[in-house]
Amino acid sequence: MQTTQNTFEQFKLNRQLLNAIEEAGYETPTPIQEQAIPLALAGQDILGIAQTGTGKTAAYSLPLLMRIKFAQGQHPRALILAPTRELAMQISEAITQFAKYTDIRIVVLYGGVGPKTQIENVRAGVDIIVATPGRFMDLYFQEEVIVKNLNVMVLDEADKMMDMGFMPQIRKLLEIIPTKRQNMLFSATFSEKVERLSHEFLEFPTRIEVTPQATTAEMVTQRLYEVPNFRTKINLLTSLLRDKETFNRVLIFTRSREVAGLVHQNLLDKVVREDELRVIHANKGQNTRINAMDAFRSGSVRVMVATDVVARGIDITEVSHVINFDVPLIYEDYVHRIGRTGRANQSGEAITFMTIADEYHIKKIENMIRKPIPRAELPADVETEPTPIPERQDMLREIDNQKRKEDPTFLGAFHEKKHSHRPPSKTSSNGGHKRRGLPGRSKRK
Ligand code: AMP
Repeated sequence: MQTTQNTFEQFKLNRQLLNAIEEAGYETPTPIQEQAIPLALAGQDILGIAQTGTGKTAAYSLPLLMRIKFAQGQHPRALILAPTRELAMQISEAITQFAKYTDIRIVVLYGGVGPKTQIENVRAGVDIIVATPGRFMDLYFQEEVIVKNLNVMVLDEADKMMDMGFMPQIRKLLEIIPTKRQNMLFSATFSEKVERLSHEFLEFPTRIEVTPQATTAEMVTQRLYEVPNFRTKINLLTSLLRDKETFNRVLIFTRSREVAGLVHQNLLDKVVREDELRVIHANKGQNTRINAMDAFRSGSVRVMVATDVVARGIDITEVSHVINFDVPLIYEDYVHRIGRTGRANQSGEAITFMTIADEYHIKKIENMIRKPIPRAELPADVETEPTPIPERQDMLREIDNQKRKEDPTFLGAFHEKKHSHRPPSKTSSNGGHKRRGLPGRSKRK
C-alpha cells in the first residue's frame, strides 16, 4: 500500500488494531487522528484542542493501545480521565472495541453506583482504566487501585473537568503517580485555565488543533431545513431535485447504509432516472464505488447518495449541491463537505435537513464554524408527514442521551415518564397515539 494513501495503514499500528479499526467502519483518519497518532506513537506529550465529534477518542486510544500491547501484571499502566460517567463509558466502549483482538483488560470507574463490581474488576487485573476523577481517587485512597505502574495518562475534555470542579482531584493525582510517563490532554477550548493545566501536566507538548475551516464555510451558501421525520425529508429532497437545472451535480450524505439504500430507492421511484443516480456505501465493492465516482465526476450521474463513512474517503469537488440528508456526527465533516461545493461555479450550496434530534449537533456545528446556518422555509409543495411513533421515540431517546452527555445526573424523559405516567389507557382521547410522553416503553440500554 502506498504511503501517500490516506488510510490507517499509514500509521505503524499492529494488525490486531487495524482489523478492529476496519470493523468499526473507519476508512480514513480524521484530521486530529492524522496529526496526533504519529506523535503519540513516538511517545510525545500532546495538547489536543478538539471538540467531540472530531474523532479524538481514537486519536489517543490507538497509540495508547499500541503502547500497552497486551495484558501484563495486575496493576493499570494507563489511565484516562473524563468528566462524566457518560463520556467515561463511551470511551471505554470505543477502546474495548479497538482492543477486541488483543487481551488488554479495560476497566471503567465512575460514581453514582456502588463500587463493588468496579473493585472486583480492578482486582481481577487491569491494563487500562477509564475513570471519572472522583471515583478514581476514592478507590485509590481505599488502596484498591495501585498507581505505581501508570505510564500513560490522558485527560479528556479537560476544560469540562475543570468547570465541574475536578481540579483538586487532578492535582492530587499528579502528585501520586509516577513522573515518568506520557501525557495527553484534550480540550474543546484553549482557555487560560487549560493553558495553566497544560503547563503542570505536560512536558514539551506538541500542540495540535483542529481548527474549523471557517473561510471555506464563508464561501459557500448554506441552508438548513427543519424537518420532522424521514418521510418529510424524502418529500423535501424530491421537491429540490425536481429542479434539474439548478441541482445538476448533487452529493447526498446519509448516516447509515440503510438510510442510503432507502433514499436511493425513494428517489428512483420518483424524480431521478436510474442512469443518473448512484449509491455508494461500505457494502458496495471497491470497483462499484470507483465506477460510481467516475460517472459522477464526469457528469453522467447527476445524484450520488453516500454514507458518512464512505464519503470521508471520496475525493469529489465542484458539486452544485451537498445535501446532508442526515446531520453528520463528525462535525468536521460538515466543514469538509460544504467545501466541496461552489468551487467552479459559484452557485454551490450546502443544504442540511435537521430533525429535533439533530438540534444538539447543529448547535455544535454552528459553534465550530462560528456562525449560524440560515434557516429556510419548506417549499410550498412539500407535504409534511406525521411522524410514526417508533421514529419519534428513537428521536426522543437520542435527545435524552444528548442531555445525559451534557449532564450525567439527568435521568431522561423516559425515566421520568415511566414513573410519573400511567401507560396509555383506552380512555385517552386518541387511543394512546401520539402522546407527548412515551407510553411505558423500557429504555434501550
Ligand atoms: P469522537 O470525537 O472521538 O467522540 O468521535 C466521534 C464519532 O466519530 C464516533 O462515533 C466515532 O466512532 C466516529 N469516528 C472517529 N474516527 C472516525 C473515522 N476515522 N472514520 C469514521 N468514523 C470515525
